Amino acid sequence: MTSLDALAPRLPSPLQEVRDERFGRRGLRLLLKRDDLVHPELIGNKWRKLVPNIAAAHGRPLVTFGGAYSNHLRATAAAGRLLGLPTTGVVRGEELAGRPLNPSLARCAADGMRLHFVDRSTYRRKTEPDILAAILRAAGVEEAYVVPEGGSNNAAVRGCRALGEELRGHADVVAVACGTGGTLAGLAAGLAPGQRALGVPVLKGGFLEADIQALQERAFGRRTGSWSLEERFHFGGYARTTPALHAFARDFEDRHGLLVERLYVAKLLYGLVTLAEEGAYARGTTIAAVVTGRPFPQAWPASR
Ligand SMILES: *Cc1c(COP(=O)(O)O)cnc(C)c1O
Repeated sequence: MTSLDALAPRLPSPLQEVRDERFGRRGLRLLLKRDDLVHPELIGNKWRKLVPNIAAAHGRPLVTFGGAYSNHLRATAAAGRLLGLPTTGVVRGEELAGRPLNPSLARCAADGMRLHFVDRSTYRRKTEPDILAAILRAAGVEEAYVVPEGGSNNAAVRGCRALGEELRGHADVVAVACGTGGTLAGLAAGLAPGQRALGVPVLKGGFLEADIQALQERAFGRRTGSWSLEERFHFGGYARTTPALHAFARDFEDRHGLLVERLYVAKLLYGLVTLAEEGAYARGTTIAAVVTGRPFPQAWPASR
């Protein structure tokens, strides 16, 4: 049995009100749910999703999947180092194998994660049982516990229900940036009746509604909670940013004194400011934005 003491979290995560005139002048309150402070290395929702999986693994090595800048891979690697648990990361992009590691993958490797690179078409089919088996065999980890890409399986979705429960009674609308949507699926299930969850997808494509419903059906037996998606703020897709997004994030950092992660959190906050300015919320509405992460220094081009 693995002792999870090294992963002891700060829960519930802090809930902070910020004074921002873009909300205040419309009679809205903005709260920041600081999930970025849950654990120094398993940052934000990554702690909530990974720890239930590590418990379920019962000390077996972990294998998981991600892109070249995946926060989930870094969190898994850090958990492996802290717990003395072997980890393997299956990385999208065979062409990366021969090159120097980028800073995110270098961090994974320094934490002891073995990296196994696969070509993009194989990676896309990694949930097909025979493809998965072939990947695990090639990586030499057939006995390992498999955590899916982004960590969003049943254990993870149920783990994120606590995020919603921590917000009961504190906000009318709870907003979160979505990658796989596992965090939103759990969060929405944990809120009280009358509270609404809003997801801001950072990927382009419009497939997330069906994905999140499927995650809820698997984890809870049905679609549950009041949730919807706002698809306008992906800024071109995953890991895409624009100068306007960076300028917005720098300004938010200057106003409120916290670092704004660009690939998820900046898009969420930009979306909320836009919605507030469009008059999407009635006066008296309290909005809680989940700060799901913290910048990893070199995770975007140095346009700052
Ligand atoms: C992983 C991640 C998300 C996305 O979580 P999902 O459960 O995959 O939707 C959001 N924000 C940050 C900072 C993340 O690292």
